Amino acid sequence: MAACSIRSRRLPNRSIGSARDSVALRRAVLREVALDLVEPFETSFGVERRRRFLLLELESRDGLVGWGECAAAREPRYSSETVGTARETLGRLLPALLSPEPVSLAAFHARADRYRGHAMAKATVETALIDLLARARGCSIAEWLGGRRRRVEVGVSVGIHPTPDALVRRVGAYLDDGYRRVKLKVRPGWDDVPVGAVRRAYPDLEIWVDANQAYPTTAAADIRRWASAHRVAQVEQPFAERAVRAHADLARHAPFRVCLDESIVDRPSLEDAIRARALTSLNVKTSRVGGLTAARELARLAAIAGVPAWVGGMLESGVGRAHNVHLASLGPFTLPGDLSASGRYYRTDLVDPPFVLRPGSTLEVPRSPGIGVEVVPAALRRATRWTRTWTVGGGGHSARS
Ligand SMILES: [Mg+2]
Repeated sequence: MAACSIRSRRLPNRSIGSARDSVALRRAVLREVALDLVEPFETSFGVERRRRFLLLELESRDGLVGWGECAAAREPRYSSETVGTARETLGRLLPALLSPEPVSLAAFHARADRYRGHAMAKATVETALIDLLARARGCSIAEWLGGRRRRVEVGVSVGIHPTPDALVRRVGAYLDDGYRRVKLKVRPGWDDVPVGAVRRAYPDLEIWVDANQAYPTTAAADIRRWASAHRVAQVEQPFAERAVRAHADLARHAPFRVCLDESIVDRPSLEDAIRARALTSLNVKTSRVGGLTAARELARLAAIAGVPAWVGGMLESGVGRAHNVHLASLGPFTLPGDLSASGRYYRTDLVDPPFVLRPGSTLEVPRSPGIGVEVVPAALRRATRWTRTWTVGGGGHSARS
């Protein structure tokens, strides 16, 4: 770490987090892992009890290891990507990295850009590569990206519950844990009454809601009515991802922020949404936009347009969470992210130390090199369902656990 600080001071800022950084790889190991959630998480598109996802380990010729997590789920519900499509895409992207020549971030982006879509698969490789590059420099990813915050403010995302009373009790438990803002998942039929119940129980609480595209555009007047009545601070992605005009209509003179999540997948989609005034808040997910580089660029672009950004979550394990926490240390992320402590989602996380909620509803940004936390070999072994390994000149081979 000390070496990193000294080198950082010597280097001009633009060379930190440079796309020209390169590293020679020895091995790539892709695993499918399974982790049980502490409790079911229900959104407008379904219930998750257990997360099965891909985890990528990149090993450099010097023996350093970088980690990347793929946010794609088993089912194409949040997005069209799945564990299956990501596995196939990674099977195309990874062999090219396993060359005797050092691979740069710019070279990876150029290769990845040849394929349309598959942002989550691309982000898996990009984040693992950045972890490695940062470790090679002796820097944390936050430093590598140019982030300055030591702690980041976080909130908690609360799923759909069987009854409004159950929701109010759950929110109360999170407030007891120390969270200061909650994001309630909503859908048609689960909005006015449960949100109103939480507002009555906690008159001063900062409440956001997220519909994951569940409403028809004809519901705009009703959403405006209940969200205003319950003093909701932010309404996230009520309409379909391509319904830019409907979001713009909702945002006009709204007493709450209108946040876009699924609609924003790249720079052109953000530029169009900004031009249409369709958002007054931006949820940036590393996985949805193809990696940390794009996430940083979109947040900067939003800030220039006066749109505050925050880091969204995808039920990540400690690996993806670490990348997200480093991202949130950057200046444009001025709203609290969906970056809860490890214990919010998993009893046993894959990383050590786990993320713990600190005073002021914050998480500490790890200071050690790379993601700043270590994957625990025993926890990884227990969670692994299969592995596929590529080596330089050796092709790929698979194994079941
Ligand atoms: Mg969302």
